[in-house]
Amino acid sequence: MTYNAALPLVRYNNESAVGFPQLQSPWDLEQGHWYEPDPYNHPRRPLHIRRLQDDQVKCERNLGWSIEYATAFIVNHLDPAHSPDAAATLKRICTRASQLARDGRGVDVAYDLFNQLNQCLFADRLRDAVYMEIGPMGPDISGATFTHGHGPNPRVKRVTIMLNSDVHGRARGKEVIASLIHHMIHAYFLIACGPQTEEEVEYGRLSHGLAFAKVSRTIKNLTIARGGRPILRLGFGHVLSPRNHYYDEYHDHTGSEQFKIEKEDWYQSYCPAHVLSLPVGDMDKWYNAACAPLLDLPKAIRENKVLIFNKRNELEKVPRGKATPSNSSLEFLIDKKSASVLVPKKLFEDFLSIKAAFDKKKSRYMDIKLDKVPKDAFMTLLELLHTGSYSPDLAAVMGEGRMGGPPVIKGVRSGGKEYLGTDVRMWNLGVELGFDEVKSVAMDRLRAQCACYEDPVEVLRDVYKEKDPEPEMRQYVKEFLMRAPMPEGAYDGALGVGAAALTMGMGMAAANGASALAGTPNLWKLQQELCFRERFLDLMDQCGALHIDVLKAEEMLAAQGRTPSPPSRYGVGVVGPYSPPAPALLPTALSNPLSLSMGMGVGMGMSVPGLPVAGVPLPVAPRPLTIPWTGLSAGSALDEYERVREIQEERALAAQMSAMEMLY
Ligand SMILES: [Zn+2]
Repeated sequence: MTYNAALPLVRYNNESAVGFPQLQSPWDLEQGHWYEPDPYNHPRRPLHIRRLQDDQVKCERNLGWSIEYATAFIVNHLDPAHSPDAAATLKRICTRASQLARDGRGVDVAYDLFNQLNQCLFADRLRDAVYMEIGPMGPDISGATFTHGHGPNPRVKRVTIMLNSDVHGRARGKEVIASLIHHMIHAYFLIACGPQTEEEVEYGRLSHGLAFAKVSRTIKNLTIARGGRPILRLGFGHVLSPRNHYYDEYHDHTGSEQFKIEKEDWYQSYCPAHVLSLPVGDMDKWYNAACAPLLDLPKAIRENKVLIFNKRNELEKVPRGKATPSNSSLEFLIDKKSASVLVPKKLFEDFLSIKAAFDKKKSRYMDIKLDKVPKDAFMTLLELLHTGSYSPDLAAVMGEGRMGGPPVIKGVRSGGKEYLGTDVRMWNLGVELGFDEVKSVAMDRLRAQCACYEDPVEVLRDVYKEKDPEPEMRQYVKEFLMRAPMPEGAYDGALGVGAAALTMGMGMAAANGASALAGTPNLWKLQQELCFRERFLDLMDQCGALHIDVLKAEEMLAAQGRTPSPPSRYGVGVVGPYSPPAPALLPTALSNPLSLSMGMGVGMGMSVPGLPVAGVPLPVAPRPLTIPWTGLSAGSALDEYERVREIQEERALAAQMSAMEMLY
């Protein structure tokens, strides 16, 4: 049997201290058969060494950890508080390696000491999960670590570490140890985070990134001697040298090209002597923000999969290797820390308060307590971060060229979109989490709406139910309560609803169209209309802040000369065009310009403030105190609404003409 440098090498029986002429391949690549018996894999060798070389051993260990937790696990494991003997053990291993090298058994170092290093540094997580070879790989690299099933030996389905005999043959013991630990770190990340895939190269299992740097530096620091210098020169590259001139003459190196690796490929590491190192400050900053917090977080957050917000506005679980790297992303923890949602950092550029909240925590994880922040509000926040806005679109409630909000209560559409409700929840989220930009966006949207088709009582409940709202929101509510349609905006939104939307709420919309014409403030509708009154009063009883704000709104309305209509003889809650004829109207100060638009109470018929004219009877006969449109079909209700509107338009025009005549 002759030496073939093209083949991976293992030690032969007649070992020598000079070079590796005695190394022989255990398998023949060309002929595909085995040399028997394998001299190095002798039964008298320790079992762990034989298993390192056994290409039949199966081990599918995949810890399923994120690379951040895998890093934190090792750093935590090697903390003197948890492994007080780790430093002494590693130094003994280095001493042993030096002794073996001096005895001319340098090639034994890797096989003999792998198991001890695994137990000491990696908490035995590599046991049986690694296959190791030593073979010629040219002068440039220390070796290579291959992901599962992609090593040079096609029979091996485990992770493969292949050390380069061209640079290890004459290395000192501690240099071999440093190189072996380097490749064991690569192997550890493959086992902790699962096999490498072609799409996940950037994740860093086999690269010399932050995770590798933190672990290697932690191990190197274990070997710091009295003078403050580490014994092991463990780092990004290596200090191994190619064989000397004597070796080059002695050997035919043509076979080294067989496993020569000139660049990083997706399934293997590329480990040259010189690798650009990372600043220690960056490494520690990343570790403290991304890794260390995981030690106190639940198992689910440590996993190798994470939720992201996809283009369908849904949460989707993806491998972390396919998501934005941890140094460029932040995570919200939800569902009692049972899941996390990853968001790229660049999406927070316009949300400085959110970035500041993360910075304040000095962590890339923020717990979102869903008992205080509803999940739908959280999803809306994600939509805002990813798209710059959120649904529903306000076009349907803004009106064209009209004055903005607060909106006028138009009617309640069953099953309609929640415009105000969504924005109030976003406001609350901003308050709860201290996200000022979110509050600003929500308030801008609230003020942009001029028509309300939601249940205003439920909206107010969301505002006041948890605690007293902030002054800005209370001011908005007071303006909302005082809001009444202007004459030129009497039909804001009410006519823009579309016939299709006027199904169940058709009668209400018709009623509100008429009441809007009368300029009824929202507060009076809440206090008088049957569908709101009881619940609104109950809410006032429950929420002192709302009660106060209602009183203030009433005061301000009164200061503007607007007072609620006296109780109707038909009872409270009779509103809109179905109301009975109103009694004679009381004069109102004409000097108040607002009075022209605000008019008198709902159900009082059309009037002109300041003019002692009696309310003109509506064309519809008085209805009992039930919802008057219940018995109407959709078509007839719409017709009736249009008819009432035409009549009221005529009356409004006539009344204004009369007022003008009186002035002149
Ligand atoms: Zn490497």
